[in-house]
Amino acid sequence: MEQVYNFCAGPAMIPADVLKKAQAELVDWHGLGTSVMEISHRSKAFLAVAEQSEKDLRELLAIPENYHVLFCHGGARAQFAAVPMNLLGDATSADYMDGGYWAHSAAQEAEKYCRPNVVDITCEREGKRAILPAQAWPLSDDAAYVHFCPNETIDGIEIRDLPVTDKPIVADLSSTILSRPIDVSQYGVIYAGAQKNIGPAGLTIVIVRDDLLGLAKQALPSILDYTVLVEKDSMFNTPPTFAWYLAGEVFKWLKSIGGVAEMQRRNEAKAKVLYDFIDQSDFYRNEVHPDNRSLMNVPFQLKNPQLDALFLEQAEAAGLKALKGHRAVGGMRASIYNAMPIEGVRALVDFMAKFEHQQG
Ligand code: PMP
Repeated sequence: MEQVYNFCAGPAMIPADVLKKAQAELVDWHGLGTSVMEISHRSKAFLAVAEQSEKDLRELLAIPENYHVLFCHGGARAQFAAVPMNLLGDATSADYMDGGYWAHSAAQEAEKYCRPNVVDITCEREGKRAILPAQAWPLSDDAAYVHFCPNETIDGIEIRDLPVTDKPIVADLSSTILSRPIDVSQYGVIYAGAQKNIGPAGLTIVIVRDDLLGLAKQALPSILDYTVLVEKDSMFNTPPTFAWYLAGEVFKWLKSIGGVAEMQRRNEAKAKVLYDFIDQSDFYRNEVHPDNRSLMNVPFQLKNPQLDALFLEQAEAAGLKALKGHRAVGGMRASIYNAMPIEGVRALVDFMAKFEHQQG
């Protein structure tokens, strides 16, 4: 098979070693004569998967004891609603720091449940797109929590500082979780759809601090109720068992390569190869200031957008897949999540150089 590198923003690449292992044990998992998909989520064998995966995730992110880890459905968008419904309590407002498409979408959903105080935290720095420093974010006194999205998948923007507040910080880590170490104790709730750095779509990880349970004042669907999910060990209803199993295998793989510190080292090296190449070229450009460039999602434009279609066609033929930018912004985007090896980024840069040369 021709070597293919998949730059899709999500569902994204899964480590090749994990896919091979899953393939090898697909039809006869652990000698049971069935696949892991076909056994009860309450069976001893699956409960062992659930337990080990939580243990490994806790170890990878050094999740403190007073946090619960939930394996949920509904993607990050379900959490856009679950967060206000679970956390508002008696409050009627929450702060939403708007740094891009996904933070904005979360604020829009929150409007159904409260008056979100939406703060545009974007700015221009040295002619590039950037984010205001967190000390400058105007937070409100009556907010129940402060929501932000540290990695904007579409905009290619990463926010490296945290809101300066004593309110619970809620973060959508969908496109950056496990890409580098984080201090979980700084957050009230972390959530992330699985389909980038965790595993297949269909699973959503929620990490919630214990004291934030039981605040919900309104009737909320049980399937979104953190307290119910904690009480039922994420098995209030049938969880997405195959996605959960595969996520567990991704966690094992991450541990085997040296955990999130090693992952950060690799991700920084990969991103540097691509940004350095773009920066030295007059043919390609990235519009994000280096302070806020995403390690995971690298949008870039061709000087002549009329060449976009040709670029994508030739990239595809060279085994470099899914480089088309999001429809909201156009251009190109290379998503270089954990599973993307540096060889993939080098292949992309080689192709970009060749394409530039060919246009001459
Ligand atoms: N937040 C972020 C940062 C995302 O990248 C995405 C998906 N690309 C979402 C939320 C929405 O996720 P889902 O489709 O799992 O609801």
